Amino acid sequence: MTPQSTFTPTKRTIRRIHELLRGIYGSRQPTPRDALDGLILIVLSQATNDINCDRAFQSLKKQFPTWDDVLDATDEEVADAIRSGGLANQKAKRVRQLLAEIKADRGSLDLSWMRDASATECEVYLQKFHGVGPKTIACVLVFFLNKPAFPVDTHVHRVTKRLGWIRPQAGADEAHKVLRELVPDDCKLDLHVNLISHGRAICRAAGNGGPKCGACPIRRHCAFGKSVKLSKEEVAMQRQTTFHGTDFFVTLE
Ligand code: SF4
Repeated sequence: MTPQSTFTPTKRTIRRIHELLRGIYGSRQPTPRDALDGLILIVLSQATNDINCDRAFQSLKKQFPTWDDVLDATDEEVADAIRSGGLANQKAKRVRQLLAEIKADRGSLDLSWMRDASATECEVYLQKFHGVGPKTIACVLVFFLNKPAFPVDTHVHRVTKRLGWIRPQAGADEAHKVLRELVPDDCKLDLHVNLISHGRAICRAAGNGGPKCGACPIRRHCAFGKSVKLSKEEVAMQRQTTFHGTDFFVTLE
């Protein structure tokens, strides 16, 4: 990949990209749920798909109806309950450690206060627990508490670097800080999910086929994409592709 410039996109540009991606990948609503349930669900979601994660969570709740029950169990018992989600031994330890830390801090396993707290209050609180990083916190906030947050996973990180929104050298912490400020609150949930879809489908990692800039509906807004010269074949191929409701053909400049 060639070097590219970094710039600060306007809110209008971000909204336009949000609209273009939403036209292709769709829109969704947050799924309100208990903050502690959401936090444990995010821990269980590591390195597995949604279906297996949900199975593991349901199995855990069935065998241990309260979080205190999980705390009173052994790592092995919890691992058996979440086996369908993968990395069971590791996740069981992590879940129980997290519950123990929260109980030691608050005296009970109850994070329901977060529903009425600000995003910043929730973030500051969750940061103090071992192994709870900015991505986990942002996921809990945006998916389950309907609060403004922008999780940066590997796809969002890669695509926003190529777009030029963050420095090529930016690590995850810097990316979270920059993108949280850049992305308008009402775009955060959809743009996060749709950038992941875009990263899987078109703006792929170098080791997975690389970016298909010639087929990208947001190329005109992309620092890297604009530096890519399209072949005649790519242009011809793209003209056969329709992105309903987008300005895709304008991207063939
Ligand atoms: S133009 Fe290329 S680099 Fe930019 S977002 Fe699209 S696929 Fe990724």
